[in-house]
Amino acid sequence: MSQTMKIKKGDVVHVLRGKDAGKEGRVLEARPKDGKVLVENINVIKKHRRPKAIQNTTGIGGSVVPGGIIELPAPLPVSNVMLVCPSCGKPTRIGTIEKTIGGKQVRIRVCKRCNQEVDR
Ligand SMILES: [Zn+2]
Repeated sequence: MSQTMKIKKGDVVHVLRGKDAGKEGRVLEARPKDGKVLVENINVIKKHRRPKAIQNTTGIGGSVVPGGIIELPAPLPVSNVMLVCPSCGKPTRIGTIEKTIGGKQVRIRVCKRCNQEVDR
């Protein structure tokens, strides 16, 4: 069974390892299958793009897509980041508690520092 990922899209995380260690960013995408997260402005890779000519289907004219450098965040292992608690504002480990809401059992993430619920 795969490990459940406690980091979700929209979370703010603190980077522990890698070239952006010490930085914080917002999670753009969580990929539980890969155990990876995509974090805004973190682990950014630069891709060089060549100018590309596009043929116009009418045969008249056509246009050119300008080349340049595009910057894209690359996914990083979820173990390299730590959630920043929205309540105490510090990188923290996450615990989960079970709660019954409307007769349904739900798991809620809590901060191990301040015991406040992370999900609001
Ligand atoms: Zn906290």
